[in-house]
Amino acid sequence: MWFWQKVWLLFISRSFRKYIGNIDINYKTDPGQGGCAANSDGVNCYNNTGKVYAGLIAHELGHVFASKIKALGLGDPNGDMGGASITYTDDNGITQWVTGKRYDEAEGAIKWERGWAGYKGDTALSVYHGSSWDNWNSPVEEFADMFVNWVMDGENGPNGFTNGPAGNARRDWMNTTISSYLP
Ligand SMILES: [Zn+2]
Repeated sequence: MWFWQKVWLLFISRSFRKYIGNIDINYKTDPGQGGCAANSDGVNCYNNTGKVYAGLIAHELGHVFASKIKALGLGDPNGDMGGASITYTDDNGITQWVTGKRYDEAEGAIKWERGWAGYKGDTALSVYHGSSWDNWNSPVEEFADMFVNWVMDGENGPNGFTNGPAGNARRDWMNTTISSYLP
């Protein structure tokens, strides 16, 4: 589905807006720290021509979505991401890890880690808080990047989940999880 059409469905449709309320997107004239940043009610983007992409705004809207859903008591997207273990079963019946909790052999314990399978890349424009950042390995950033690719899914180009089993596993998790927040 076309990106803005999904944004429209998510943020402007009457039923959804009733729960989420208004989202402010401010485009600042000053350069600020560059890029865009989310707060609990919206997104601020700074004046850096050529660096503000639709996908970046969608990433920030993912953060806004997570905080709004939590504030409204409808669920906890970041917490759900932090509790998730997204996997699929391959043709040999073996469980393949995609992202989230998994057994860490070195530590001998279950650990949350971020994986890249199912995305078209591990940096922008496929994900916006990817491997080029020091603090990429968090459920909060994974949820926001899942949100971008779910909203922009089915597009040709860098956004959207892959059509293989890892992409399908991410897509299924988002469809199920997002639906669970809607009253
Ligand atoms: Zn982010």
